[in-house]
Amino acid sequence: MRPPTAIVTSRGAKRLAAGHPWVFRSDLAEAPAGAAGVVRITDPRGQALGWAWWSPASEIALRRVERDSDATIDGAWWRARLSHALARRAPLASDTNACRLVHGEGDGLPALVVDRYDRWLVVQFLSAAVEAQRALVVDALQELAAPAGILARNDASVRAREGLPRTVELVAGDVPEEIEVNEHGVTYLAAPWTGQKTGAFLDQRENRVMLRAHARGRALDVFSYHGSFALHLARGADTVTAVDASAQALERARANAARNGIGTLACVEADAFDYLRDAAARGECFDVIALDPPALAKNRGSIAGALRGYKELNLRAMRLLAPGGMLFTASCSYHVTKPMFLEVVREAAADSQRPMILRALTGQPLDHPEVLTIPETGYLKGLLLENGEN
Ligand code: SAH
Repeated sequence: MRPPTAIVTSRGAKRLAAGHPWVFRSDLAEAPAGAAGVVRITDPRGQALGWAWWSPASEIALRRVERDSDATIDGAWWRARLSHALARRAPLASDTNACRLVHGEGDGLPALVVDRYDRWLVVQFLSAAVEAQRALVVDALQELAAPAGILARNDASVRAREGLPRTVELVAGDVPEEIEVNEHGVTYLAAPWTGQKTGAFLDQRENRVMLRAHARGRALDVFSYHGSFALHLARGADTVTAVDASAQALERARANAARNGIGTLACVEADAFDYLRDAAARGECFDVIALDPPALAKNRGSIAGALRGYKELNLRAMRLLAPGGMLFTASCSYHVTKPMFLEVVREAAADSQRPMILRALTGQPLDHPEVLTIPETGYLKGLLLENGEN
């Protein structure tokens, strides 16, 4: 039986040739017959371009997964692609028991996210074609990672654009409410069923360790979630304050502090903008600050507002920074590019009247590969800044 075939326009083919796997609906010269799944793709002259995920409901109609038209997307293919992704993460094994095993397009597996928390996996099937192959994916993961359980956190909003329901489902075995994560000697509880993302923010692991090297005196972790930066900062600082708007997250931060034998974590439930303003008014001063807000730009239309937010937050944080103090500031907004973020932090530095020294510019860790030709795989950028005043 001939597999369903999609014909892409020459513009679509050009985009593929430039290294981006997506073909938009407007670049579909002929849609494949049949439901969501794996389809062959060709250019308008019939030249084979490999295989793609087909999403009938989405603006992103095709996502190329395989350039070799002679390949077969079966269990063996999935095992090969997944073992490649797993092998890339091997260097992390000695430092943590939690990492992203599959970062979608960044690992050549569009619309699939797999995070490992100790012996459990949390999976997100983010397109109709990946959902259609769920059994193959689960079998391959069982074989390669032998997890104690697999949870599908299919409640991500992008599922709606694929015409897929938003659910949280146990796919295999059992998955506990909380899982203990070990991260460079710090332990914390991740909440795979109910936590943000798949239960924790794995993408800041290395940045926490980087900032920890500068921890001393008074430390502040703004947008702390469950104390992620704070737990590391407590290793070197005398006092640590964790600020977050979520009472639930701070409750876990307290439990995480106790778990690490930290008696000096002050948790403050507050709006971060207000907290930073009030702390400045009180004349407070910190030696090290982590500033890790949620994505302030959710879409292109909200970039201008987001930039104002980033500037405000960074300016306020810089004003709280002691001479010689270190600020780690991050943006996880995909729509705010690296140059935009650097520029807005530069503006904040100018307004702060402090000589802020750029000590490091960071991107994504090993387990969140950012492919240069696929901008959507990159979203996280960070700056380590030192207040150069004496
Ligand atoms: N730094 C964390 C991740 C932060 S995610 C880590 O490394 O794991 C963003 C956090 O900001 C969430 O915990 C959310 O509850 C919190 N948040 C969102 N808006 C906020 C606001 N206006 N003020 C304070 N916290 C806020």
